[in-house]
Order: sequence, then structure tokens, then C-alpha cells
Amino acid sequence: MTNNAAMTPDISEVHTLIIGAGFGGLLTAIKLKEAGIDDFVILDKDEGVGGTWWANSYPGCACDVQSHLYSYSFEPNPDWSHMFGRQSEIRDYMRHCVAKYGLEQHIRLRCEVRRARYRDSDGRWQVEAKDGTRYRSRFLVAATGGLSRPAHPDIPGLEEFKGEIFHSAAWNHDYDLKGKRVAAIGTGASAIQFVPAIAADVDQLFVYQRTPPWILPRPDRAITGFEKKMFRRFPITQKIYRTILYWRLESRALVFTVFPGLSRMIEWLGRRHIRKSIPDPHLRMQVVPDYPAGCKRILLSDDYYPALTRDNVYLVTRRIREITADGVVTTDGAKHEVDAIILGTGFQATKPLPEGMIIGRQGLDITQRWQEGLEAYKGISVSGFPNLFVLAGPNTGLGHNSVIFMLEAEVHYVMDCIKTMQENGVDALEIRRDVEAEYNRRLQRRLARTIWASGCRSWYLDENGKNTTLWPGFTVEYWSRTRKFDIRNYVSLTAGNQATPGDAAEAA
Ligand code: NAP
Repeated sequence: MTNNAAMTPDISEVHTLIIGAGFGGLLTAIKLKEAGIDDFVILDKDEGVGGTWWANSYPGCACDVQSHLYSYSFEPNPDWSHMFGRQSEIRDYMRHCVAKYGLEQHIRLRCEVRRARYRDSDGRWQVEAKDGTRYRSRFLVAATGGLSRPAHPDIPGLEEFKGEIFHSAAWNHDYDLKGKRVAAIGTGASAIQFVPAIAADVDQLFVYQRTPPWILPRPDRAITGFEKKMFRRFPITQKIYRTILYWRLESRALVFTVFPGLSRMIEWLGRRHIRKSIPDPHLRMQVVPDYPAGCKRILLSDDYYPALTRDNVYLVTRRIREITADGVVTTDGAKHEVDAIILGTGFQATKPLPEGMIIGRQGLDITQRWQEGLEAYKGISVSGFPNLFVLAGPNTGLGHNSVIFMLEAEVHYVMDCIKTMQENGVDALEIRRDVEAEYNRRLQRRLARTIWASGCRSWYLDENGKNTTLWPGFTVEYWSRTRKFDIRNYVSLTAGNQATPGDAAEAA
């Protein structure tokens, strides 16, 4: 793959550099092209496009939001095989978008960004990839996703284990699990998908549960040939279907953000699902959560509970004390010898970027900027980081609807910003610190009243218990707030401007 960026011997100049070829990165690229901006490059660390849908290839991986909604609004796919698309078809959909919108020549795969540094001297982002290539860009889009850095648990002895060990987001497909004794650590969204998918193949499967999730039946089914034909011949029918799905999911925000007490209804459904799926009363008791439904992500599965009832599957509810060379030991001293350990332990959602990767004005590392917790204006602009757009950034995640909807709203805002800058002849913009701070104060006040603040521990909250990941209301509100870019909330910078983030407000 090549690009059409201007090349000098060792540095490529581009208008926009996008980090990540997932849903956010590809969407930005499509919208840049639509705006007549062809001078951009997408760098991605993986071997294929897809972002999280490339990385997560574990058995059973599928989306838990209906695919007719979990796809771009402008690129409907009438051929989804099921209500909930499988990983491979979502990845294929993204490949289709790359081909259809002519993005191939802009994409560099296996090209992991080592560092992106904003240069005060010329107001440009200087980006170095691990393969030695270098770029200079006016805009930087961090489309790395909120769930792209696997979390490895801090369990004593983990490195001592002599068998096979891998994370669900880096599945080792070369390792044959058939007939093996396997430990699966974690019972989150990933684990409840891969546990049933591997249970029949392995000899023994020990599922280590620290906190049981609330699980509801998954309303999945194959999309019929007739429906596909209708969607293809009369695209309006698919639009209507998407709209119905959107509002159905959107209504769930009522429970999470307005009337948390209604979560009892969900708990009732969850308990009924357990009763119907698990005959053994002791096992039933072990999987009933003791926190309000919705506090952690509500999961959908019809095959996870039945998998736990298999003769070769053992739910372990004692805490893990240590891992030895050949097994896992719990706090009661019991040890299960295993050949392989699969970590379904989630992602560093509150630390989405590694230290040293994005350096803003005056050498400020974004991880230092976020030391007290992630924050951004509308989840997109961060003070101290001019012309940086973060996608799927702080407080833009959802517990109730499709994140693709949020991404489309974010990218609309980004494009409006770029257009406004062009119209006003502005070279670089930075969000005012006071505007950003006030925006986040309001968000946190609202988040304190939601179901996510009801006392459970989840990846939504950082180590200080602050919710830095979720949007606190209806997505339609976020949509309306991102319709129009307001330049008055930003400070215009010229090359060589050395204002500190604190000065930005005064400068405005
Ligand atoms: P997760 O929901 O964060 O689950 C991690 C699991 O690992 C939890 O059960 C957690 O227990 C457990 N765990 C973590 N550290 C542990 C330790 N030291 N000892 C024992 N257990 C430990 O991660 P995930 O399942 O990968 O899902 C993350 C998010 O990705 C989801 O919420 C969802 O947004 C997204 N996702 C979506 C899909 C989909 O669309 N189908 C699929 C997968 C993931 P605790 O609960 O006690 O912390």
C-alpha cells in the first residue's frame, strides 16, 4: 500500500494523520474524502483493518448490539447473517468499506505509532512509527479505541506458569485446546462468549468468576432471505428497521441515567433467565449478582449458563491466590492443574493510551494531563493538545446503544471544526481549559446520579471511582451537542505560541 502524501526522503507531510483503522479511523477517512481532503494517512499496528474487530477473534466473538444498528448509517449492509453480527462478518464489512471508499492507498498496516509530538515551533504533529517511518501532520486523530489495551491481571505467579497463556484479545489460534485442561479467568462480555464456544472441545474448563455479571437472553436469530431481499430492494425498509432498533435501545438510557430504580425489572428478567437455564440450585446461587443490573455492562447470552452446567465445566467462585507453574490456586488452597490459561480480564479502559505516545504543547504527555482521570471536551478535544481529535474518547462510551452512532456524531464535529478553521483562516485550535473543566464538572454531577455510581466496581470507573468512560444520558443529546462546532470555546494558536494550558482560558 502506498499513499499520496508528499514524500521527502525521510518524512511524509500530510493534512491529517489517523491512528487506528477501526470504525472511528475509517469513518474519519471516509468523511475527509467526502470533504475533498485526500491528503491523509491511517496507521494501524495490526495486520488487517478492523481495530477491535480485528484483534478480538476469539471463538464465539460477536457483537452484542444489533448489526443493523452497529454499522455506519450511510453504509447499510442488507446481508447481515444474524441480528448480532459475528466477528468475521463485521471485519468483512469494514474491509468492504475500505474498498468501496478507496481507502487502501491511505492505510499503513503493521505500523504502530511510537510517538506523536506536537511541535510548538511550527504547530505541526510529528509522528514516528515503530518501523522508523515519520510523518508530519496538521491534524492528529487518535482513533485507537477505548478498549484496545488488554488488561493483564496482577495475580502473583502469573509469569511462572509453564503452560499456554493468552488474552482473549490476542487469541492463539495455533494452540489446539482440544482435550486440554483450561482455566478461563474472568466472566465479562468476552468470557461469556468464548466459554460456551470452547466448552465442548476441552477436557476440563475451570471458569474463575470474581463478580457474576447480569445476563439476559440474547434475542438473536438468522436474518431470513426474504428480509435480506426486502432490505436490498427497498432500502427504506432497512432504514426503518434501524430506526426502530435505535429507539428501542435508546429507551434503556431511561433506566441507567434517569430512573435507576427500574433496574429491578432487569434483575427480575436476569433471575428468570438463570432459573430457566440452570437446574442446579447451588450453581444458580453462585451466578446471581449482588449489585443493581446495569451498574456493570448487562450481557446477552443464551449459551453461557448452559455451558456452566456441563460435566466438564467448573465454576470457581473463590478468589485466585496465585498461579503456579502448572495451575491456579484459590484462597481456600485448592489447586486446579491446567494446560492453558485464557485471560478474559478485559481492557485498560481508563488508561487507553500508553505513556509517551501522545505529547502535546510544551512536552505535556497526555497520560500526565489525565493523571487525575480522563477528561476532554465532548470527549474529543483535550486542552494542551491543539489540533488533536480523540475518538471514542473520555465519557463517550455507552452502556445502552451503538457506539457507531456516537462515532458518527464525533466525526461530524471534527469535520465541522476543520471546515470552520478553513473558513476562518485558523491554523491551530485548542480547547479552552475553563470550558473543558466546566463541561466535565457538569458531566460528573450527572454521572453521580446514574446506575453506574451505585456501588459496583466496573471498567467504567477509574481507580478513584470516577466514571471517565460513559456518556451520562441519551445519545440523541450527544448528537445535538456535536452538530455545530463553536470556535469561541477554543483558543487560536499560531506557530511558536508558547501559552500554557492554564493560559489558554485567559488568551480566549
Ligand atoms: P470485562 O467486562 O472488563 O471483564 C473482565 C472480567 O475479568 C471480569 O469478570 C473481571 O472481574 C475479571 N477479572 C479482571 N481481573 C481479574 C483478576 N485479577 N482476577 C479475577 N478476575 C478478574 O472485559 P471483557 O469481557 O473483555 O469486556 C470488556 C468490554 O468490551 C465489554 O464490556 C464490552 O463493552 C466490550 N465487549 C463487547 C463485546 C461484544 O460486543 N460482544 C464482546 C466483548 C467485549 P470483576 O467483574 O470482578 O472485575
